[in-house]
Amino acid sequence: MKAVRFHKHGSPDVLRYEDAPDPVMRPGWALVRVHACAMNHLDLWQRRGLDKVKIPLPHISGADVAGEVVDLYGPSSGSTGVRVMLQPGLSCGECAMCKAGLDNRCAKYDVLGYQSNGGYAEFVTVPAENLILLPKHIDFVTAAAFPLTFQTAWHMLVTLAGVKAGDTVLVLAAGSGVGQAAIQIAKHFGARVIATAGTEAKLAKALAAGAGDVIDHHKQDITAEVRRLTSNRGVDIVVEHVGIATFEKSVKSLAVGGRLVTCGATTGYDARLDLRLLFAKQLQILGSYMGTKQELVAASKLLFDGTFRPVIDREVPLAEAASAHRALESSETYGKVVLRP
Ligand SMILES: [Zn+2]
Repeated sequence: MKAVRFHKHGSPDVLRYEDAPDPVMRPGWALVRVHACAMNHLDLWQRRGLDKVKIPLPHISGADVAGEVVDLYGPSSGSTGVRVMLQPGLSCGECAMCKAGLDNRCAKYDVLGYQSNGGYAEFVTVPAENLILLPKHIDFVTAAAFPLTFQTAWHMLVTLAGVKAGDTVLVLAAGSGVGQAAIQIAKHFGARVIATAGTEAKLAKALAAGAGDVIDHHKQDITAEVRRLTSNRGVDIVVEHVGIATFEKSVKSLAVGGRLVTCGATTGYDARLDLRLLFAKQLQILGSYMGTKQELVAASKLLFDGTFRPVIDREVPLAEAASAHRALESSETYGKVVLRP
């Protein structure tokens, strides 16, 4: 099959569109023809190389896949010919965490395209339990743009931070995949959203997506603006993933009893935390990684009924994945970049 792989870590130049072996089938797994694969920041980390995680080489990235089931290796509950999107979380299914429905805490947890080969290819294999059937009216690009970011933002906001009507939620980097999902989820649960972005065009899109107020994080001080917009009270929840560049301002933006939930450190991980604020204001700092299969199924119902609409920045031919990586890396995108084989 054709795939985009890297044989060594480095700049987008290491990505090669080339022939690769067909993916390996295992009992209970499905072979899926990829029609669309959305990119995530995780793909950039994999390509650059990580301190603590060894990526198998040569590697095929890609966690967010929509396509068509073309083969099944029984026993499995699936059927061929059906249109699907894929659960990006791979777990053992047998440990105490998996059996408790907390599969993103499985000791063997992997994200599709992380330690395994993913969807930057014509075909990918996954356990049949990772297939989510698509209704006819959901196209492949929309479906591919949905799973990872909405699953992640749902776990952050709904499960960990307990968002509810009347809350004020600060969403950092509204144009990021998690940012655009978090705005929609917070709005759905009746929260007021304050979103940050770095350009006029992105601020306008954040307002159009449902943010009540926006902050230009290059020109304005996030904490000062949050104070002004909340009559000095602060926000109930901050959706963090930016890291060292914003973490202190995020903590200072919280109201008494506020929750900061973070799923990433795009600008660096070595952030500073003023413990006096943590205890005196009774704050909660919550770490989040992906989400559970059940959470994605719950969020998917709101994709299928039209409540959620993943924001698509652009579609790019798979062979041009390197240019798509450059675009995501330069922060010029708003929403998801989707590769088409
Ligand atoms: Zn497990």
